[in-house]
Amino acid sequence: MTQPMPPISFEFFPPKTDEQRATLEKTVAALQPRRPQYVSMTFGAGGSTLSYTLEAVRELHLRHGLDAAPHLSCMGGSRAEIRELIETYRALGVKRIVALRGDLPSGMASFGDLRYASDLVEFIRTESGDHFHIEVACYPEVHPQAADAQADLIHFKRKIDAGANGAITQYFYNPDGYFRFVEAAQRLGVDAPIVPGIMPISNFSQLRRFSELCGAEIPRWLAKRLASYGDDVEAIRDFSTDVVAQLCRTLLERGAPGLHFYTLNRARPTLSVLDRLGAID
Ligand code: FAD
Repeated sequence: MTQPMPPISFEFFPPKTDEQRATLEKTVAALQPRRPQYVSMTFGAGGSTLSYTLEAVRELHLRHGLDAAPHLSCMGGSRAEIRELIETYRALGVKRIVALRGDLPSGMASFGDLRYASDLVEFIRTESGDHFHIEVACYPEVHPQAADAQADLIHFKRKIDAGANGAITQYFYNPDGYFRFVEAAQRLGVDAPIVPGIMPISNFSQLRRFSELCGAEIPRWLAKRLASYGDDVEAIRDFSTDVVAQLCRTLLERGAPGLHFYTLNRARPTLSVLDRLGAID
């Protein structure tokens, strides 16, 4: 890359066991030297992993000195619970939140007091003014529950209008879809940065499962090539590092404002992409 690297951020999930804590510790140690603008920590809907998210954010923020952004989903929560959590994060010195609706876990019947992520953004602003920098999610390949692409886009704009500062996309492997989405959002008047979410590939069957759940498309050519490597882990790694580094390069060359990496708490896939990206001229 000839131009300087724009801001990058890393997403983690909260560890629940000592083994997972040790893994995250190593991952953070390996990724921190890449100087992320911030790191984020996911949140399980329905409060099940709430304390894990808080505990992990506390570690990243206080012990590692990272700008740590908890994900906060409103699904299943009451206003009082969400208010308390916002206050806890504020008291901890957290300055960023990734505000989401979340998904209803199977067996849970109630949505909670706030229905959509736009309601959550509005609530955070009402409760804490401009204290938090708020990111929201968006979907260049359309959220799976949206009636259609235009309705989804309008709902995305509502989150920005409610006070979000920026957005992170669902991951994708087709940069054209991202740029079309950004242009359509800008035509609607969205001028907040829309940062592409990048999913490095290390395990094809896991990626296929995730993608079916969240509605992200794996292009046919990519699926066919990945499948053709069978169990050859090294070949998959090498090929997919190339593919994802090229994707990042295209995104940055065409004006993406940063890159947000879904690390899945592993350093190597993300580091390989960053190293390969740095080596592309
Ligand atoms: P919303 O923006 O509320 O949209 C949800 C659906 O409702 C969309 O189809 C939208 O078009 C529609 N909609 C919105 N407003 C209205 C309205 N007023 N009327 C009718 N329809 C409407 N999930 C977790 O559980 N924990 C996490 O930590 C987490 N992190 C994520 C991080 C990123 C960057 C991304 C992209 C997703 C993440 N998710 C996470 C997944 C996310 O919670 C799901 O995709 C969820 O289904 C939608 O969340 P949202 O915030 O986009 O919802």
